[in-house]
Amino acid sequence: MDKAGDVFEDAQHEVTLEHSLRALEKRFFKDIEPLKGIKLVRDVDFPARYLPEEKIIELHRNVAQFPKLSQFLIVHELIHHKLSLKSARHAEVPYSGAYRDEIRKLCNDDAYVALL
Ligand SMILES: [Zn+2]
Repeated sequence: MDKAGDVFEDAQHEVTLEHSLRALEKRFFKDIEPLKGIKLVRDVDFPARYLPEEKIIELHRNVAQFPKLSQFLIVHELIHHKLSLKSARHAEVPYSGAYRDEIRKLCNDDAYVALL
């Protein structure tokens, strides 16, 4: 059972994360369809993941309290989103050459390097 304080804190984090998501999309992925949203989840064994059918990112609620780490993870999942839009089979080989090409592109962008 969630405590009322936790629920309030999660709601605040979700507002902040949605804001970060939109800023990161605008900065690094302006030519692709925006995500449907970002959702905090608890009791999961991953820090973040992208769900291609729903086009959302799930972020572990315990990670959400670390803004820089959250932003880094959001960009990572946005790469999966971008590549999933290009190929329905992206999830089968998520860390292919196409993935590395996206990372290389980002690494030429000082704003991305500043996130690391
Ligand atoms: Zn990944």
